[in-house]
Amino acid sequence: MAAKATQAAKAAAGKAVKAAQAAKAARATGTARAVTGAVGAADYDAIVVGGGHNGLVAAAYLARSGARTLVLEARQKTGGAATTEAPWPDAPDFRVTRLSYVMSLMPPTIIRDLRLEKHGYKIFPMGPYYQAFPEGGSIKLYADDAKRNHDEISRWSKKDADAMPRWDAWLAGLAEVLGPLLLTVPPNLGSRKPRDLAETLRLAWRQRGLDVRTIADVTRLMTMSIADLLDDWFSSPQVKGALAVNGVIGTWAGPYEPGTAYVMAHHSIGDVGDGHLGNWGFQEGGMGAVADAIAGAARENGVEIRTGAKVAKLLLSGGRASGVILENGQQITAKVVVTSLHPRTAFLDHVGRQNLPDDFVADIEHWKTRSGVVKINLALAELPDFTADPGTNLAEHHTGSVEMAPTMPYIERAFQDAREGRPATRPFSDGVIPTAFDTTLCPEGYHIMSLFTQWVPSDWSEEPHTEELQAYADRMIDCYNEVAPNFKSSILHADVVGPYEMEHDYGLVGGNIFHGELSLEQLFHMRPAPGFADYRTPVPGLYYASSATHAGGGVCGIPGMQAARAAIADRRAALRGPAQAVRRARHR
Ligand SMILES: Cc1cc2nc3c(=O)[nH]c(=O)nc-3n(C[C@H](O)[C@H](O)[C@H](O)COP(=O)(O)OP(=O)(O)OC[C@H]3O[C@@H](n4cnc5c(N)ncnc54)[C@H](O)[C@@H]3O)c2cc1C
Repeated sequence: MAAKATQAAKAAAGKAVKAAQAAKAARATGTARAVTGAVGAADYDAIVVGGGHNGLVAAAYLARSGARTLVLEARQKTGGAATTEAPWPDAPDFRVTRLSYVMSLMPPTIIRDLRLEKHGYKIFPMGPYYQAFPEGGSIKLYADDAKRNHDEISRWSKKDADAMPRWDAWLAGLAEVLGPLLLTVPPNLGSRKPRDLAETLRLAWRQRGLDVRTIADVTRLMTMSIADLLDDWFSSPQVKGALAVNGVIGTWAGPYEPGTAYVMAHHSIGDVGDGHLGNWGFQEGGMGAVADAIAGAARENGVEIRTGAKVAKLLLSGGRASGVILENGQQITAKVVVTSLHPRTAFLDHVGRQNLPDDFVADIEHWKTRSGVVKINLALAELPDFTADPGTNLAEHHTGSVEMAPTMPYIERAFQDAREGRPATRPFSDGVIPTAFDTTLCPEGYHIMSLFTQWVPSDWSEEPHTEELQAYADRMIDCYNEVAPNFKSSILHADVVGPYEMEHDYGLVGGNIFHGELSLEQLFHMRPAPGFADYRTPVPGLYYASSATHAGGGVCGIPGMQAARAAIADRRAALRGPAQAVRRARHR
């Protein structure tokens, strides 16, 4: 069967080469991006490859527009990196949110359109950021309580306490500029085609209210390291350590690397332009319940979801996407295909280099996709009893981020270890205890703790490194034990997920948590490749909905929504006629 599938794929690919070259030539001469109508009697109107949250969002939107839609997911369950699982066979009542762990950037539009709350979307807002220091003392920072922040920070630096409201206001102002850009389809910057220039000018016009200072601040944010930026504002190591964490989450870069200031801002946006986002929060039932809510909405709209259905190749017909071939050889046809996989898988493996423009292939080959993240999920017999804030009864400091990132040099050292090829001796951790609110994840009286930790060497995605990962996790636990001496003995079960498992079991190539780094050269009009940041691809009829597109990563659903919108707009334009199609392909 597999051999047959390969032959079929080769034949389809062969036929497609000429058509793809023609499409490429058409692009080069600026005539049109091919948008055609039906491809005869297809099995479905739309196939979505990958049942992660973005694939499910795309499917739900496509089905809402009336398309008969099929989702194909390789794993036995949907959700991708938004997954709740029971990793311990001897303790099936303990469930963990195995990879992603907190919500923040899901736009109100998606929550409303898909009626996610009806399908179980329920967020508990997180408590404060909390760091207990190995040398004694602790700090709490609140998302929305300036008075308490002032009191907390004053214990470390009066000057920093006074600076904090100005910093918050500065950041809020910049987030107002950057937030709406997340819902903007990036224009094809640099193109001189009239329609692309028009899109670029439209974007520039929308920014006309920005003054010299704001542009300067945005420039700083986009180019500086989080360490340099915080040095301009604060002096105490404790405050700088606390504010640095968001600059390096999921990033193959320490806090002194340029670009990390933007990563911090990405995690601080409160409004993407369609209403205020919730603060960071825990989904009841873990992040898998977010994916389940979207799957529920998709099914309600008529989407068919198949799990255990691994896609091996894209089917091409006349240079156009016309379906997929599964690993078991089955061919399924559709008028439109949306893929939500990592770009290397989606384009190099499924479409094939021979069917893509050379410069696009080079861009995807050069795509940076490292993280060095290790997720450690723990079942606890009791809550951490911090020396600085004693007690195992639930207290405010258990309800938010329970960090191990005491200072900037501490975080930097962890990165330097990994860059030099060793797992961090003292890793940093963004910890959370969702069971401070969510009683559905484990039996009463127990807790689940999730540690998002960094770094191990980026090439650990190539080998399991099982024993070294265990030793790394033990060191991480020791770090917490220094500030909460009951921690180690409270651990009933531990689940350690490293880059190899992320790549091989979840499709996160290179172990990058966002399908690709959020580095400056991979943002906005460059995500995933210049000329293709509008959720379309070099293959007509193939749309791209992964976290490797603009507004990804994170569990925000924006790539899924935008890819579906692009497919729907092109399809409607095609039905209206070829001239209209050419215009609409670029003017959504
Ligand atoms: C450890 C970790 C922690 C994170 N923490 C957070 C967090 O707290 N908050 C947050 O917002 N984001 C977080 N993220 C990022 C976020 O989870 C991802 O950006 C997001 O879930 C990706 O969604 P997606 O739908 O684009 O892709 P994915 O979730 O990767 O979905 C792609 C799907 O495609 C499937 N697939 C792969 N190959 C095939 C194939 N050949 N055929 C069919 N199906 C296939 C996969 O199994 C998967 O289900 C974290 C990620 C990780 C790994």
